[in-house]
Amino acid sequence: MPQSYDYIIVGAGLAGASAIEGIREVDPNGSILLMGDEAHLPYNRPPLSKDLWLGKEQVDGIFAHDEQFYTDNRVDFRLGARAEEIDPGVSLVIDEEKETFNFGKLLLATGGSPRTLDIPGGDFEAICYYRTLDDYNQVKAMTGSGKSATVIGGGFIGSEIAAALNQNGVDVTMIFPGQGLCRRVFPESLSLAVAAMFAEKGIRIVTDTPAAFERDGDKYATVTKGGARVEADIVIVGVGILPDVELAAEAGLRVDNGIVVNERLQTSHPGIYAAGDNANFPFAALGKQTRVEHWDNARKQGKLAGKNMAGGEEAYTYIPYFFSDLFDLGYEAVGDVDSSLETFPVWQDENRTGIVYYLRDRKVRGAMMCNVWKKLKAARELIQSDAIMSDDDLRAALA
Ligand SMILES: Cc1cc2nc3c(=O)[nH]c(=O)nc-3n(C[C@H](O)[C@H](O)[C@H](O)COP(=O)(O)OP(=O)(O)OC[C@H]3O[C@@H](n4cnc5c(N)ncnc54)[C@H](O)[C@@H]3O)c2cc1C
Repeated sequence: MPQSYDYIIVGAGLAGASAIEGIREVDPNGSILLMGDEAHLPYNRPPLSKDLWLGKEQVDGIFAHDEQFYTDNRVDFRLGARAEEIDPGVSLVIDEEKETFNFGKLLLATGGSPRTLDIPGGDFEAICYYRTLDDYNQVKAMTGSGKSATVIGGGFIGSEIAAALNQNGVDVTMIFPGQGLCRRVFPESLSLAVAAMFAEKGIRIVTDTPAAFERDGDKYATVTKGGARVEADIVIVGVGILPDVELAAEAGLRVDNGIVVNERLQTSHPGIYAAGDNANFPFAALGKQTRVEHWDNARKQGKLAGKNMAGGEEAYTYIPYFFSDLFDLGYEAVGDVDSSLETFPVWQDENRTGIVYYLRDRKVRGAMMCNVWKKLKAARELIQSDAIMSDDDLRAALA
């Protein structure tokens, strides 16, 4: 006999944890099961590449909620348990032990998994595709002064972890194609300036693509397509994620770059919702269907999905933001911060302090505030205003 729950949440990450809050806002009594394949209660991932390394946070401070929260909210949880199949027709979740669970409503909050490199040695156990608390613990245990690390990838995760390791006395080499860092978001001049800052801090940058990993005693060599060979104690790969959509796809739900949901975060099956990194949703303010891989989005979508599962009818109209820290460059960004759009920087201190606007047809689609704080609300209003902006308007907009 399957166990029955009013609500089952598959994926014990931030979206899953936030859904509990949403459910309980509407339904104080319904039974809830939280199922996650990691061994930990839901935690925040941003500190894994920042604050934990910089002594600003300890592991026990990164959890979304303490255990008491789950007790107070009468949530059953099954950790280290992977949902292997869902059957929407009979409202069933089947885990890898073949245990079955009936749901009234189901949330798929399965997030994403790191892209792996399909090259010789790409499957060595020691190559760390960085995503989880276990990855942090594994890398942390191997680091220390005198150690060396190769970081593959020049996006956010690669850049953050390279900066973090460098600040922990590790000799870091980054390998990625192209000259600048975080190039998909940063305009070229900022991207190059940040790469120059990394070089000043002592991080070597090899602008190439890995072709193979080789084991060399206790070390691992990354051989690049251009023929370079970089040896290190640790190899970390941060080359993006793929949304975890298999459960949804195999169950016949609509999947297209993530699990497709409507404005209420409902999938193509009305009793099943999706939220967070795996959800392809209508981003109202930008007028497009898209997927967002950020902390704030997971938090807000998870909560709203929970409310709607419990009977709410609210549309997701929120404009999520994201943030990062690279040495002393901290920033918050909101909207469509895609560097292929026209960009218009307004600097107080070039490539260090100021605001970069992202424009289409002279309308603000996104804004990135570099070492400038408390402008998120105004930036959101600017995006929603749909106003045509002259250069002078932009200079004055968030001053
Ligand atoms: C190192 C790092 C640093 C980051 N820094 C920032 C930052 O500075 N700012 C920012 O905005 N964002 C940042 N992010 C991104 C942010 O953490 C994610 O957007 C957020 O974690 C997404 O939450 P989620 O709940 O949707 O998915 P996830 O956090 O991926 O959680 C999904 C959970 O579901 C589990 N799961 C998957 N499939 C199954 C299954 N079949 N059965 C059971 N469980 C399953 C997964 O193992 C995982 O535990 C960072 C991410 C990483 C990895």
